[in-house]
Amino acid sequence: MTDERPSIQERYSTARQTSDLSLDPLTSMSPADVLTASGWAAQENEAAMLLWGVVYQGKTSDKLRLVEVLGSQLNAKMGKDRRLKGDAWKIAAEMLAWFLHGTCRPCGGLGYERTPGTPALSNRLCKVCQGTKRAHYPRSAAHIWMDAHLGSLTAKAGGEVMKKLARSMEL
Ligand SMILES: [Zn+2]
Repeated sequence: MTDERPSIQERYSTARQTSDLSLDPLTSMSPADVLTASGWAAQENEAAMLLWGVVYQGKTSDKLRLVEVLGSQLNAKMGKDRRLKGDAWKIAAEMLAWFLHGTCRPCGGLGYERTPGTPALSNRLCKVCQGTKRAHYPRSAAHIWMDAHLGSLTAKAGGEVMKKLARSMEL
């Protein structure tokens, strides 16, 4: 059994050679769609690797570039989904700061209330963060999207780093 459908790489190289970005009758994706999809994938990989650098290697130099990429990803989503509103790059910067440093202050990121007058924690969830240990952020659709996006990029960054490690071990 062979798969007759062109691979994403084949479609991508076809798309790059096609000056007329009209619908390809053989696939459901137009060359323009393939270009958009591969552009998005490249951005996703870049964002994931930058996030990894900032979070795990403390590369503050990558932060500005990361905000740029996250902002343009959000901006692209805003073009398609009218519920996402606001300044994409400002929201990207806010949410990255929240992601990196957004610990709930009242409970110090522990998730439980302290027992007054002692260093011990009670078994009552922190009223401010409801035990999530995270600070609040503005609950606009765009902020919530970026929260979920940062979560999926973190998962992706882990996968990308593992792939790189596997590749370097083959050498
Ligand atoms: Zn709290």
